[in-house]
Amino acid sequence: MESVLISEVGLRDGLQSVKATMPTAHKMAWLDALAGAGLREIEVGSFVPARLLPQMADIAEVVQHAMALPDLTVMALVPNLRGAETAIATGIHKITIPVSASEAHSLANVRKTCAQMVEEVRQIVAYRQLHAPQVRVEVGMSTAFGCTLQGQVPEDDVIRLAEALANVGVEEIGLSDTSGMANPAQVRRLFLRVREAIGERTGAAHMHNTRGLGLANCLAAFEAGVRTFDSSQGGLGGCPYAPGASGNVVTEDLVFMFEAMGVDTGIDLDRLLAARAILRDGLPGEPVYGMTPEAGLPLGFTYANGRSPLQPHTPGPHGDLA
Ligand code: ZN
Repeated sequence: MESVLISEVGLRDGLQSVKATMPTAHKMAWLDALAGAGLREIEVGSFVPARLLPQMADIAEVVQHAMALPDLTVMALVPNLRGAETAIATGIHKITIPVSASEAHSLANVRKTCAQMVEEVRQIVAYRQLHAPQVRVEVGMSTAFGCTLQGQVPEDDVIRLAEALANVGVEEIGLSDTSGMANPAQVRRLFLRVREAIGERTGAAHMHNTRGLGLANCLAAFEAGVRTFDSSQGGLGGCPYAPGASGNVVTEDLVFMFEAMGVDTGIDLDRLLAARAILRDGLPGEPVYGMTPEAGLPLGFTYANGRSPLQPHTPGPHGDLA
């Protein structure tokens, strides 16, 4: 049976994109519910100064709580060496560094060129090697499929950057559709090219649903051999100027797609859907998206491993007719 790893990023990508700050106790309860639903990897936040992202001020506490959960890979985003040092000191399992494939985006975002970011990553890997060799280092290559500042990002730039990052010792290099510009043909082509260039170091597909192609892009990545997918519960992380459109791929819909295809995710949809209540409580008024949560699981649905859900058939708000 085929299987995939769904890496939940709602606590980082989602929570950093909404105005409100989820209280620490709610973050912990949400984490418990997500891990309880079978998520095996969760990006729990980012190690950035609280004055820049007050939503992440409690990151050390949240990591500590997550580390106590069984069978969970705890990861966090670090923008630079200083963030990596702080993260590694918490005993975290894995760190992820955003490196932009677009020179314009990189300069605007971190005031560093792509080459300077590769050098930063080299230093992070060296620090990890010395102080905590068990910690995995991932790079999520942002704007890999297009950039709001520069427009097209040449595929050769993406490949060159992936090779440079592999050469400095990064274990997993994923491609992120930061701006929601990717299409499935492009996703398939670019992931195949990256795999040809860096082999097993090819990492996750990180897709946003900005133009409604999130799931289609994930499927294209799957067909190109990708087996790790970032997504967020309720598609959290929308942009206030594009309501309902800009968040990450919805974890609930992604899990449904794979399980219905016979691809094992290890995730229990009943428990995952129940976790939405905790998300709603922790961020009152924030929209929570998802088509599978609205429609319920179809009659006769079984998981890839043959198991049946607790509630096999929950008609959606329009019943079975609409
Ligand atoms: Zn993202």
